[in-house]
Amino acid sequence: MKNEKWVDICNDLQSAIGKNNFKSWIEPITFDRIDARTAHFRVPTNFFGTWVSQKFGDVILRHLHGAGVVVDRLEFVVNAAPFDSVETQTSAASAAPQRAPQTAAAASGADLPISNLNPAYTFDQFIVGKPNELAHAAARRVAEGGAVAFNPLFLYGGVGLGKTHLMHAIAWELAQNKPDQRIHYLSAEQFMYRFVRALREKDTISFKQMFRSVDVLMVDDVQFIAGKNSTQEEFFHTFNALVEMGKQIIISGDRAPVDMEDLDSRIASRLQCGLVVDLHPTDYELRLGILQAKLETQRLRYRHLKMADGVLEFIAHRVSSNVRVLEGALTRLCAFADLVGAEITLDLTQECLSDILRATSRKVTMDEIIKKTCDYYKVRPADLISPNRARNIVRPRQMAMYLCKKYTTRSLPEIGRKFGGRDHTTILHGVRKIEELMSMDSQFVEDAELLRRLLEA
Ligand code: ADP
Ligand code: MG
Repeated sequence: MKNEKWVDICNDLQSAIGKNNFKSWIEPITFDRIDARTAHFRVPTNFFGTWVSQKFGDVILRHLHGAGVVVDRLEFVVNAAPFDSVETQTSAASAAPQRAPQTAAAASGADLPISNLNPAYTFDQFIVGKPNELAHAAARRVAEGGAVAFNPLFLYGGVGLGKTHLMHAIAWELAQNKPDQRIHYLSAEQFMYRFVRALREKDTISFKQMFRSVDVLMVDDVQFIAGKNSTQEEFFHTFNALVEMGKQIIISGDRAPVDMEDLDSRIASRLQCGLVVDLHPTDYELRLGILQAKLETQRLRYRHLKMADGVLEFIAHRVSSNVRVLEGALTRLCAFADLVGAEITLDLTQECLSDILRATSRKVTMDEIIKKTCDYYKVRPADLISPNRARNIVRPRQMAMYLCKKYTTRSLPEIGRKFGGRDHTTILHGVRKIEELMSMDSQFVEDAELLRRLLEA
């Protein structure tokens, strides 16, 4: 492809993505060449490349195809210019790329610390399912940047369920929709450090001014300042000042305001006044959806990736609701398969993710334990429960008691009831007996280990 053709494509791109986007993100990149069906571009920074590829990769590809160019990938390489020339290069052709970082900041009202935001945390990359649909809808609404509908928006939920992702997505979107708004995103921890520094430097005036001059304030992980009294106090005042001016505030926390014990009750009640939405733990469908989307991303990196049917379903079933762990599992699996050049099969998955699978192994029930133990020792469940004291029944029974104690959260009396109404001391005796046997006879260790695996499968 000739450079002129790229210039033509750029004209179309500009009308497709809008002038501002074009100026900020496409103008600074330079078309280099095409080889092996890959279009190579030069970008000013790594971050810039990631961002362009994520946000505009599809549309660029579409326009290339539209112009009859045969490519299936885009590759962004950081400009090879020596780094000390970054500020000094002034020729028209090379000046554009160097301008990029400033342009990026300017596009968001000069105050968005864009480096604070993860370019991957956009709405495009957020998979919506039942557990997070309300939080997602609320975030979308706020990101439109229209009249303040609910203030503050408070997002809460357990670790790794997408709170930070949604907040960054709001910031990215607002930066596009309302380029002249001042958006400020930071963690409650950063808020505290800045406040403490302002106190130390006796410069709380500029601290206050700075926080009162934003149009949108986003504070992540507010639980961090619970119990930190002077910081909470300052936060409360900042909060009130902004609400009074009709500025949007978005806050996240790890639990509902009422459940944050050390949180200033005035802040808690302020938070309650807005819209409080929670991100629920993921369900199987959402996990599967996320895995499918992330696999597509992995395929861009590892082009020869092969995965057997049922692997994603298996991971979605077995890995916990924390999306960070889920993502980490898939990333590791793909990297490993690529490294050894093997297809990703169920076996490989179990091998490669054994630690994660163990840590998040699904809850086993006492019924499953009794069934599997009986299968394993070839006895009948009715005998296991019965008062029968034959030796070939007693050991499997004790093993099942031991497994129930170890792998369920049932109490000794509950286990006793399950085993035909036995006393809790009988259960305790059984558990101890197996522990004792295991310390003397490796056969018991092996049995317990095999049973554990059977229960996990
Ligand atoms: P939190 O702030 O709630 O602890 P994060 O927003 O940091 O969680 O999310 C953890 C990881 O999981 C991030 O990499 C994020 O991109 C990813 N993630 C969470 N929820 C989703 C989702 N619904 N779709 C795609 N990725 C998600
Ligand atoms: Mg977070």
